[in-house]
Amino acid sequence: MQRRTFLQAAGAGLGLTAAALSSRAFADGPAIKWRLASSFPKSLDTIFGAAEVLSQRLHQITDGKFQIKVSAGGELVPGLQVLDAVQNATVECGHSASYYYVGKNMAFAFDTTIPFGMNARQQNAWMYFGGGMQLLRELFKQYNIVQFPGGNTGVQMGGWFRKEIKSLADIKGLKMRIPGIGGQIMARLGAVPQTLAGTDIYPALERGALDAAEWVGPYDDEKLGFHKIAKHYYYPGWWEGGPQLSFFVNQGKWNGLPDAYKAAFECACAEANMNMLAEYDYKNPQAILRLVKQGVKLHAFPKDVMEAAQKAAQTMFEEEAGKNPAFARIYAPWKQYLAASNQWFKVAEASFSNFQYYSGR
Ligand code: CA
Repeated sequence: MQRRTFLQAAGAGLGLTAAALSSRAFADGPAIKWRLASSFPKSLDTIFGAAEVLSQRLHQITDGKFQIKVSAGGELVPGLQVLDAVQNATVECGHSASYYYVGKNMAFAFDTTIPFGMNARQQNAWMYFGGGMQLLRELFKQYNIVQFPGGNTGVQMGGWFRKEIKSLADIKGLKMRIPGIGGQIMARLGAVPQTLAGTDIYPALERGALDAAEWVGPYDDEKLGFHKIAKHYYYPGWWEGGPQLSFFVNQGKWNGLPDAYKAAFECACAEANMNMLAEYDYKNPQAILRLVKQGVKLHAFPKDVMEAAQKAAQTMFEEEAGKNPAFARIYAPWKQYLAASNQWFKVAEASFSNFQYYSGR
């Protein structure tokens, strides 16, 4: 059986191999300067940093021939308009979360995550080997974009609550900052979801305009100080089990790149993708220890909340698949892949992890 790396698998449709990365290709190649619009502020340093990893590595690999200037959200284009800017070639490339664009088509969410979806490893496996990349590229093609996995936070936290949540009844009427599809499902459980930018969350929680708020995870949440005003920190963020960030490249600009530059870009994207998850996996354990030392109380969401949310999510996705062919086209194979993957993960992975975390000495 032929062995292949995940990079070759990812680039299979483009006919690229690592052999294209010869130094002559860059020495004799054109000087290319692109601009990258990020959706994220510099304060989200781990997420924003993935675009800097891409830029730095590309500079090193190509000996400075392929340069990308990275701009934070709002500098070149508003953070939530990165897809449009890449589509229209206002910028050559971008770094964003595809689920910001579910207003255009709900199917974009599969490129990031959907509630009760995949963990980070499952998402990578689906994208690089399970046909996810090909399915999503058919969708992005209609928007004149080629996309690449560009980081993952790992499973996020469920957020900060001023009062304890003891059962599903406590979700009713709860004013919670939770944007996107997660918010729509919370609404089905009786909550009142709110969409607020990161910097607006703390004051709203403080004055009681919000009862709860989700953001990312311990490392990013600690910086915004939510623990000072809402002591109950819930897990897991079932709406974001392994959210993937993405790099977007304008189709025409991509087509114009020499093969070696394309291969270099893919390598740098793959490194940025892996790097972000490793960085969060390193930073979050330290942050959560600091938070617990300051009196934060960790709670799992009650089982009835989890079960009701999962049921509401499944209902919502079936409804969407019934009216949105682009969503249905990805949802069916996505669901089949996830079911098979979960069967495997619960054998060796879950039993090893459960022993290590709860019984091991
Ligand atoms: Ca979140």
